[in-house]
Amino acid sequence: MNNKLFKDEFSGKVVVITGGNGQIGSEIIKSYLDVGAVVVNFDLSNPNSMEWQSLSSKSKGVQNFILCDITNKQEVVSAINDVMLTLSTIDILVNCAGISVFTPFEERTVEEFDSVVNVNMKGMFLTSQAVIGQMKKQKKEGIILNLGSMYGHSIADQRIYGDSGRNSPEIYAMTKAGVNHFTSYLGRYLAKDGIRVNCISPGGIFDNQAEFFVKNYEYKTPMSRMGNPDDLIGGVFYLTSSMSEYVTGQNIIIDGGFTLGS
Ligand code: NAD
Repeated sequence: MNNKLFKDEFSGKVVVITGGNGQIGSEIIKSYLDVGAVVVNFDLSNPNSMEWQSLSSKSKGVQNFILCDITNKQEVVSAINDVMLTLSTIDILVNCAGISVFTPFEERTVEEFDSVVNVNMKGMFLTSQAVIGQMKKQKKEGIILNLGSMYGHSIADQRIYGDSGRNSPEIYAMTKAGVNHFTSYLGRYLAKDGIRVNCISPGGIFDNQAEFFVKNYEYKTPMSRMGNPDDLIGGVFYLTSSMSEYVTGQNIIIDGGFTLGS
């Protein structure tokens, strides 16, 4: 993608992202930094201390990091306050953090169930609530982008996972379907405040999964391949830029056609 197109759009914008250490989040951060945004990553650890800075810099193209468990309201409120104290504004929130579990449905524990709900739904709720409070005070457009999943739209075909022990569990699908509704709800609820809320729903991203799984997955995908994190950036930039200024409450599925059915 030609990032130069987006330099005017994002240069100097303050982007808060959750789960930015992950496979998708790190690509989103890199892309925003490439176009001059000021990015603040809320995650559970700071793995690359040489590259990652504590929140201190307003300069463009610098990644800032705040240790924040998004399931903890106090930590979220305090992290958002830190961003406001240092950077004075939040233009864009990307709710990217998400987890799953891989045990069979019959063995699902309440602790596993709660952990997925807590990150994928409660965490998204808490960061959105805290950021929306600030965005309303700013009296300028605010943008929220949620990360859903194609499995919030369609039901996983367990056969493609074989007997690997890895699967796509019901609780992940439940929370991602919830993200869709949360997005639409907030899109409508916040339209009067000039805050747009949209979602991208990725398909499976290649991450050195087992060969048989990748083959099965590719066969079921009209575009015959798994996704890469950079396949998502066009959608991220579209939904968080003025190109989508009349779009809210929507969801773009980016999955090479996987959910079109087979
Ligand atoms: P990932 O596992 O690589 O990264 C998730 C990140 O979230 C990690 O850095 C983790 O530390 C962080 N995180 C987890 N719990 C947290 C908490 N309580 N507080 C703060 N941070 C927390 O995941 P990913 O593959 O980059 O996925 C990103 C998003 O995209 C998720 O919402 C996921 O559900 C969604 N998604 C991923 C895929 C895929 O195939 N990778 C497909 C569809 C949707």
